[in-house]
Amino acid sequence: MIASKFHAHILELIRRTSAFLPPDVTQVLEMHRALEQAGSKASLALALVSQNIGLAKRLSAPICQDTGTITFYIHTPIGFDQLELEELCCEAVAEATAKGYLRQNSVESVSGKNTGNNLGAGSPVFHWHQHRKDTIDVRLVLKGGGCENMSAQYSLPATLGGKRCDRGLDGVRACVLDAVWNAQGKGCGPGFLGVCIGGDRATGYEFAKHQLLRELDDTNPMPELATLEARILDEANKLDIGPMGFGGNLTVGSCKIGARNRLPASFFVSIAYMCWAYRRRGVVLDAEGDVVEWLYQAPGEFERDYSQEAQLLDLGTSGRKAISLHTPLSNADVRKLKAGDIVLLSGTVYTGRDEVHKYLCKGGDLPILQDGVIYHCGPVVLEDHTGGTGVSPVQKYRVVAAGPTTSIREEPYQADIIQRYGIKAVIGKGGMGAKTLQACKDHGCVYLHGIGGAAQIYARCVEQVEGVHLKEKFGSPEAVWVLRVKDFPAVVTMDAHGHSLHQEVADTSKGRLQGVLTGT
Ligand code: SF4
Repeated sequence: MIASKFHAHILELIRRTSAFLPPDVTQVLEMHRALEQAGSKASLALALVSQNIGLAKRLSAPICQDTGTITFYIHTPIGFDQLELEELCCEAVAEATAKGYLRQNSVESVSGKNTGNNLGAGSPVFHWHQHRKDTIDVRLVLKGGGCENMSAQYSLPATLGGKRCDRGLDGVRACVLDAVWNAQGKGCGPGFLGVCIGGDRATGYEFAKHQLLRELDDTNPMPELATLEARILDEANKLDIGPMGFGGNLTVGSCKIGARNRLPASFFVSIAYMCWAYRRRGVVLDAEGDVVEWLYQAPGEFERDYSQEAQLLDLGTSGRKAISLHTPLSNADVRKLKAGDIVLLSGTVYTGRDEVHKYLCKGGDLPILQDGVIYHCGPVVLEDHTGGTGVSPVQKYRVVAAGPTTSIREEPYQADIIQRYGIKAVIGKGGMGAKTLQACKDHGCVYLHGIGGAAQIYARCVEQVEGVHLKEKFGSPEAVWVLRVKDFPAVVTMDAHGHSLHQEVADTSKGRLQGVLTGT
């Protein structure tokens, strides 16, 4: 084994996985983009997703700021030194983090400390296998937290939507559709599903995730599962949940089902929900570490110099009426907005996510938030000494990726913070609950839904990093970054009059789900 070759190719695998969406996934998204109704919020979401995919390629930067759980699936020849390869993979992960291909994304669960290099107990994840070949097959999946939180496991028989669901493929179908309904837009749909029938709780989840290694256009070798996959795909796309949960045709992009033996006493159905930023790539190396083949790759895909390709950005709003907003927002600015409006926000926003919300509700204080805009976001930020767009002349920070994170996690805290600081807008994705909706109404605040995963689009909107707070205490992704943004695109999904687009879509899709399950 020539260590330097393995290291270089694993590092390149990480870069490609983080920045280049695989062609089969892009193809599904593009095909459906053309089918969404022109001018709809679904078409806006997919237009921004499409531009974001192009930008990430051009900049060789993370498609989404959440570079996710780093999971390697590796097959080696019998007798190969797996321990040495594991060390090389870990070194490559640390280097990829320092280069900004990966966000600092690994937190010690007891102390809460971010390890800063994505290494630690259980990080990255390795699945080792041997095979009777001379080559080393390395596949990598990056799966973000927003979609991972929407993964689900059911135990049949169960009652779903008031209907008894028995053990069997019809029960499996009901579980998967129920999981899709529960996810709504919180997992950055359109979702791509890996499903496992059977196994135990641990192996069921593991094998469900393993289905995400399959090519989207493959055919399940078990005809009854192939039929079930097609049926679930068709029915999920009749629920009208749509991209980002905005309503629309594309709710699920693929459904791949595998089965594991189970105990007679158990019948688990495990669903791995993957977001549209479905990052998986692979490489086959020979024993020296030279590349035999790149996997999940289109012919000639990496023979182009994407950095030289021009790209026209229209923020997806062309042909749609967008309202320009500027901070500081007044009460009148906020009250005139209605759920469904598209806005372009300019001015100062403050990032804040889990640690900051908990901190503020446990007695911490951040007076800078007064009458401000909170952005649920954990950006990838690098210290930059080269200057250039988006680099603060004082602090030398450069935002590499900056899309919204799932907001519902802040539901226990958000209403109190809106009231305490007179917050005028909360930006995030996936929507929030009844308590926050009431606080928006009572105190004059709106929820602005960004396009989950569109991290490059939003990084482009950042004109300058104006400051940072609590970075030493919470680590970079959890810090409060003060960002000056320009024309930040978002959809008002919860307004200050008690209207929630999320509730509307959830209600409509619930009725459709019941219709699908009962055949009415
Ligand atoms: S697209 Fe959404 S769910 Fe996927 S990694 Fe990014 S923020 Fe998380």
